[in-house]
Amino acid sequence: MKYLGSHVGLSSPDYFLGSVNEALSYGATALMLYTGAPQNTLRKDIAELRIEEGKAKWLSAGNSLDHVVIHAPYIINLANRTKPEAFAFAKDFLKEELCRSAAFGAKWLVLHPGAHVGQGDEEGLSALIEGLTEVLNEDGTDVTIALETMAGKGSEIGRTFEFFRDFFERFPLKHRVGVCLDTCHVHDAGYDLSDPEGLLDEFDRLIGLDRLKVVHLNDSKNVRGAHKDRHANLGKGEIGFEKLYRFAHLSRLDEIPIILETPWIDGKPPYKEEIAALRKGEMIG
Ligand code: FE
Ligand code: FE
Ligand code: ZN
Repeated sequence: MKYLGSHVGLSSPDYFLGSVNEALSYGATALMLYTGAPQNTLRKDIAELRIEEGKAKWLSAGNSLDHVVIHAPYIINLANRTKPEAFAFAKDFLKEELCRSAAFGAKWLVLHPGAHVGQGDEEGLSALIEGLTEVLNEDGTDVTIALETMAGKGSEIGRTFEFFRDFFERFPLKHRVGVCLDTCHVHDAGYDLSDPEGLLDEFDRLIGLDRLKVVHLNDSKNVRGAHKDRHANLGKGEIGFEKLYRFAHLSRLDEIPIILETPWIDGKPPYKEEIAALRKGEMIG
């Protein structure tokens, strides 16, 4: 666990410089941001985002741009192609998002595999493969997409390791895609975090550990297998601090950015305390 950080904001007037200062104030060595509101597609001009100043600050603090992660907005749904205009919009927006990620110097863009909205898992997977292939053939960047493991809420695809195995068996541009493992999501999908080594072994057997690029470390408000996706603060949920601590400290995850997306407490970000607790191994709260 060398590269540990959290979701940070990107807002006026400091934009990316502000994101970096926020991450540094938490003692973080990794960060993740949305290039705009995650639930919409309004985006500011990249020239206004103070990217070069932010990069310089991040690098001068001894960090690497390899640990700056971007999260695509969750309204991009490539798993449903029943409405051609919506599918085309999702592909175009993702292409732009890849270009924005490249401007930040980011290596990884986290993307939800999407929801099949009644068409079934096979159609969802096949639409995702079609959409991503087109996008990654045309975007002109070398940013890698990290497809996120999902809780299985509604008709979400990507809730089993087998899904990712099947995806990589069929996807032509394998070098452009990896996986982001979210601990809340895999727990909600039914995976047991009491044996973190066993969980990684299973990931390795089905997907390949070299494909794991980003970890989202969150506790869950719901019991294992609930398919809900509601994040809890570390130690305040159904997974518990100890399992999350053991997972984060697996030596096989040493080189992978670990990002907290836990909820704010009383209007304040909990990240400085949660990062310190993970480093020290002290139970918090
Ligand atoms: Fe996500
Ligand atoms: Fe996540
Ligand atoms: Zn989530």
